[in-house]
Amino acid sequence: MEIRFTDAEEAFRSEARSWLEANVPRGPRPEIADLRGRRAYDMTWQRTMFDAGWAGINWPQEYGGRGASLMEQVIWYEEYARVGAPDVNTGFVGLKHAGPTLIACGTEAQKAYHLPRILRGDVVWCQGFSEPNAGSDLAALQTRADVDGDHLVVNGQKIWTSFGHIAEFQELLVRTDPAAPKHKGITWVICPMDAPGLDIRPIMTLAGNSGFCEVFYDNVRIPLANVVGALNDGWRVAMATLSFERGTAFMSEQVRQARRLDELIAVARRAPGPGGQGRAVDDDEIARRLAQAAAEVEAMRAMTYRSLSVASRTGMPGPEGSMIRLFFSELVQRIDALALEILGPDAVAGFDAHGAPTGPWGERYLTGLSQTIGGGTKEIQRNIIGERVLGLPR
Ligand SMILES: Cc1cc2nc3c(=O)[nH]c(=O)nc-3n(C[C@H](O)[C@H](O)[C@H](O)COP(=O)(O)OP(=O)(O)OC[C@H]3O[C@@H](n4cnc5c(N)ncnc54)[C@H](O)[C@@H]3O)c2cc1C
Repeated sequence: MEIRFTDAEEAFRSEARSWLEANVPRGPRPEIADLRGRRAYDMTWQRTMFDAGWAGINWPQEYGGRGASLMEQVIWYEEYARVGAPDVNTGFVGLKHAGPTLIACGTEAQKAYHLPRILRGDVVWCQGFSEPNAGSDLAALQTRADVDGDHLVVNGQKIWTSFGHIAEFQELLVRTDPAAPKHKGITWVICPMDAPGLDIRPIMTLAGNSGFCEVFYDNVRIPLANVVGALNDGWRVAMATLSFERGTAFMSEQVRQARRLDELIAVARRAPGPGGQGRAVDDDEIARRLAQAAAEVEAMRAMTYRSLSVASRTGMPGPEGSMIRLFFSELVQRIDALALEILGPDAVAGFDAHGAPTGPWGERYLTGLSQTIGGGTKEIQRNIIGERVLGLPR
């Protein structure tokens, strides 16, 4: 492993840091309960980055991106997290999935229309991959599309579509050849979310918000010109989409988790210890678990750098990304659970016995439970590590 930053990279860091410090949004981001407000906040910030030439840090310059090197991306994501800039959230599918997929597999017309809109923050995209009986086994999907003239006619159902109710477009996987083996006969198509025949129903989560939806398709007509890649070649295109998601997505997480842990240590300094005795941070067991979490954040940082070191030699992130993904998702849950133990009922109330705010730990804990499901469950990540990293038999 060798991570050393050159003078030019250090100069890039100070340019990124100064710009971020001067421009990062200061006001709180609206909660999921106010999705339209959240969308406006995210898209305004995206537009601010676009206008200053920082949008699409890893997108090629010919498509309006910054075309940054891998090391510059690391630096950007580190500085981004350090300054507490908002995560990509409602912009995620457009910027991290659909945009890179169109760059790799789209037609010139698709790129020309969609890429600038995504980068400028004009549109929100959502992902229509999962179905009630096709999650981990995505290739089992049954939503069907039949060719009718120059259109596809879609019938079926998707589920867990994040931000489906505020999106303009959806990256949609449909079965176009039911007779073909299950990984064949799938097509990746751009679905406009205002198409007649679409019924979008928000799902209430245990955190009490509706970040995602069920989407029903009743004879929804989509032009064949919206197919990305070829008809029945959607599995290959979907694999490209998912590889972008894994790529550099976790670069900033080690910094973000370090910040979150600092917040928790501050909480432990204020909160009473077990049985109301002394301060929580002075309790041996709590102190030990905080120290353990600090060591784990450092371990995650080392794993991230190691993976980047490999990627800078081979040109692409390897399956070790699943190790970071798994470690990170379980670490988040451990930190959030420890916060709940330290704060007790005050975590749910959101303020302590003196009326001082305790922070959003209750909501974080509930939302964080999804970390080991979305983007591939922890069991699926373990399968990948076993088979592709350790070379164990299937
Ligand atoms: C916050 C969040 C946002 C999401 N957003 C989207 C979105 O925008 N668009 C979208 O399409 N989907 C989205 N999803 C869905 C997500 O991709 C699926 O939930 C995930 O792929 C798991 O599928 P499933 O829920 O059908 O569970 P299942 O696949 O039914 O799994 C059930 C259980 O069985 C285990 N299991 C399954 N197969 C295996 C195996 N081979 N080996 C070992 N264990 C196995 C799983 O690990 C899990 O514990 C989102 C999910 C979450 C939590």
